[in-house]
Amino acid sequence: MMTSPEERLSLLAEYCRERGVPMTAQRRAVFEKVLTHKDHPTAERIYEEVQTVLPQTSRATVYRALDTLVEANLVKRIAHPEARTRFDPVTEPHNHLICETCGRVEDLENSESLPDPDLFKIPGWETKQVSILVCGLCPSCRPGSEPA
Ligand SMILES: [Zn+2]
Ligand SMILES: [Zn+2]
Repeated sequence: MMTSPEERLSLLAEYCRERGVPMTAQRRAVFEKVLTHKDHPTAERIYEEVQTVLPQTSRATVYRALDTLVEANLVKRIAHPEARTRFDPVTEPHNHLICETCGRVEDLENSESLPDPDLFKIPGWETKQVSILVCGLCPSCRPGSEPA
């Protein structure tokens, strides 16, 4: 189960306290924006949204705040060759669908179909997690489909 946004914000506050870094309004705003998304936003998208609440925030600050959230394990960075780097507030292992045309990334529902890491024993590697990435064309990008 995913913890509530309030609980997650308190986890961020705790992380900042432990590291001795300030829990700035910018960090908080970046995290809040990521949490509102189910569609795996890019850093640029988060930057634009943070601008609506804290217009003074620089792009570099947003990118750094995202790095902090990833280090704190509160947000996952998804980097797939087909898409720009995106951020995911769901940190539990789950599968993704990705559109090769528009780069849209969605969660594949019914993620109990996660592959068993024991089936992927690779010499020299410690396998921690295996997930499925389904690449293809989303409903709006399929030829002949009406634009959504
Ligand atoms: Zn698409
Ligand atoms: Zn996801």
